[in-house]
Amino acid sequence: MNYSFRRAYAGTAVLALAVLFCLSLTAVCQRPHAPAPTGPWMNASLSPDERADLVIKEMTLDEKVALLHGVGMPTDEPVTLENAPSNRGVGYTVGVPRLGIPGIDMSDAAYGVRSSGVNGRYSTALPANVAAAASWDTEAAYEYGALIGSELRAQGYNMSLGGGVDITREPRNGRTFEYLGEDPILAGTLVAKLIEGTQSAHVIGDIKHYAFNDQESGRNAVDITVSKRAARETDLLAFEIGVLKGNPAAVMCSYNRVNSDFACENKYLLTDVLKKDWKFPGFVLSDWGGTHSTAKASAAGLDNEQPGRFFFGDKYKAAVEAGTIPKAELDEHVHRILRAMFAVGVVEHPRQRSVIDPFVGFETARKIEESGIVLLKNNKAVLPLDAAKIHTIAVIGAHSDVGMISGGGSAQVDPIGGNAIKPAGEGATHWQEQIWFPTSPLKAIQARAPKVTVKYDPGTDPAAAAAAAKGADVAIVFSYVWESEGMDLPSLGLPVYEGVDQNAVIAQVAAANPHTIVVIESGSPVTMPWVEAPAAILEAWYGGSDGANALGNILFGTVNPSGKLPNTFPKSEADLPHPTVTMPPPASSHFDGAVTPEKWAAGLPPFPVAYDEGLKVGYKWYDAENKPVLFPFGYGLSYTTYAYSGLTVSPGATVKVTFTVANTGARAGAEIAEVYAALPASAQEPPKRLVGFSKVKLDAKQKQTVTVEIDPKYLSIFDEQKDAWSLIPGEYTIMVGGSSDKLPLKATVNLK
Ligand code: BGC
Repeated sequence: MNYSFRRAYAGTAVLALAVLFCLSLTAVCQRPHAPAPTGPWMNASLSPDERADLVIKEMTLDEKVALLHGVGMPTDEPVTLENAPSNRGVGYTVGVPRLGIPGIDMSDAAYGVRSSGVNGRYSTALPANVAAAASWDTEAAYEYGALIGSELRAQGYNMSLGGGVDITREPRNGRTFEYLGEDPILAGTLVAKLIEGTQSAHVIGDIKHYAFNDQESGRNAVDITVSKRAARETDLLAFEIGVLKGNPAAVMCSYNRVNSDFACENKYLLTDVLKKDWKFPGFVLSDWGGTHSTAKASAAGLDNEQPGRFFFGDKYKAAVEAGTIPKAELDEHVHRILRAMFAVGVVEHPRQRSVIDPFVGFETARKIEESGIVLLKNNKAVLPLDAAKIHTIAVIGAHSDVGMISGGGSAQVDPIGGNAIKPAGEGATHWQEQIWFPTSPLKAIQARAPKVTVKYDPGTDPAAAAAAAKGADVAIVFSYVWESEGMDLPSLGLPVYEGVDQNAVIAQVAAANPHTIVVIESGSPVTMPWVEAPAAILEAWYGGSDGANALGNILFGTVNPSGKLPNTFPKSEADLPHPTVTMPPPASSHFDGAVTPEKWAAGLPPFPVAYDEGLKVGYKWYDAENKPVLFPFGYGLSYTTYAYSGLTVSPGATVKVTFTVANTGARAGAEIAEVYAALPASAQEPPKRLVGFSKVKLDAKQKQTVTVEIDPKYLSIFDEQKDAWSLIPGEYTIMVGGSSDKLPLKATVNLK
């Protein structure tokens, strides 16, 4: 959201006074004892819909309207223990205390609970969402969500603002780390599990940013043009799977426009697709400041304005009183919000603040990072390292002596003790500042090689780094790309940070030492002009609270790498569907002068971004355009080898694909078996699409027969004429293997 707008309706002085008042008069500010909920709606044998209707019968107009909006950012409006009993997140909708309906207390929680540090609390930073996607592990995704849910609950929240699933159409998007990759079936399947995990803690889960918020540049103004078919088969399919399989209680609509209407007042997105076609029973809340109207947004299907009440507060009440918004429409919004609360159990299971167990958090974060790190290159099996055979290791660059980078923006989790690279006392996290977690790769390496001399070089001077590498048996050079909400990456290359040309450091270190291992910490794909030079390359993403131990376990082979790329790594930006990100013209970047509700209602003037690549997102683009890539979608190496055999495909209500995966090497591992389909030519689709996958754990020399069931929708196209999914009769080729570019098993099947 536009922060000056937040300030426009802020009253920070009032807040300060309120806080002082509360501190001095704690007794006055104690949360009033909520009456024990007793109405007939507390009968848990009734359905969430029946219970919601019973509550609505008792509600006044004011109470109903109060459910339709937030009460402002905690920093904007007076926050009392009554209106935000949590740690103070980013949004709060008051409940109906007299009827025992609690308020909805929301915190950002993409890869962990936001803003804990500033509130004197602690939360775990999981690896970036893209790392969880790289694990292709549905159980890991569930654990990811469950940990977030339990830590939200422990901090007094009952709603998560995580669940980002905009697919990676534009890999320079500064929020790529918060999303789950470029394939809708992979991303949708994983986000569904994440949401299920979150909601298992009786915390309302959401899925966001609905939809097509695929670039940050000009996000409040951009108008995405996309055909219905391309929309439904790409980005919207990820949401469809997430909504239908994960049952999130909430959907956050995005800032941008889609085919000329803002997403939060877009009838096609909110009503026709989400509420009618997918039968979504929960509520839609706007991204922060993403509401631009009252009657239009309400009629289009927006249920709740956040964080304030410019359009869904007094104006809404007046519109209902004047009859411009029908009472039934108001009641439907209220019903959806109450229903969501009953469905997730936030009424029966009131929030209980408790102490987070950091050990559980570290363990979960480490395990997920271990299964998400991708081994991109490993010449002559330089990895795993054998500490008994090495005398010296040079660890170089990217603050790897003290920490690992994290993703910024509203996803930012506060590290314990503050930013690891700042002197003590200067560790507070700030908006759009690089935040390093105190998880030291150097120490993790030293701990695994106690008899080895491990030296650190900051990597600030390529020649000095090369000299340090030359004298060592092995050089491990760290590099990073920091990304954040509110910005896009100017390119996919390793940036020059603080005057350090990371590409030059890697090139010179690799030239000096044939046993050079490059570790990349990034959210987006990275281009690598030096790719031939080092012996090994690891993509570690943003590693979370215990990233260094996960990385140490991979480097020394305690854990066998098993992650695979959820995004294609192109050779160069020139190969992308859009070689440059379309930037907003100045008039669409910000308002002139103070922001008023009137200006906000009109919105920043639109600028177009056409999704003319259509269905060809990610690997589908490179396949269709015959563009060679640096590392393909679904690619990742292991310290063992796998073989595939015995494919059979049986058509039926679901298509059953059965095959055998064998671990042909000497180490246990986990192989992600990927199933793709090529549709009949008449379907006019890109050459192939992922239709299923399974992560299979195998001991050395073990083999296993695997069956992947394919949902017919995943083999269908979206027929614009019928406005429905449609399976094109004809011959389908099913392909199975360990990477989108290496699919040794093939079989054809006729489907009708
Ligand atoms: C972001 C959302 C976030 C919200 C609240 C917005 O700027 O786009 O992802 O949940 O702020 O912080």
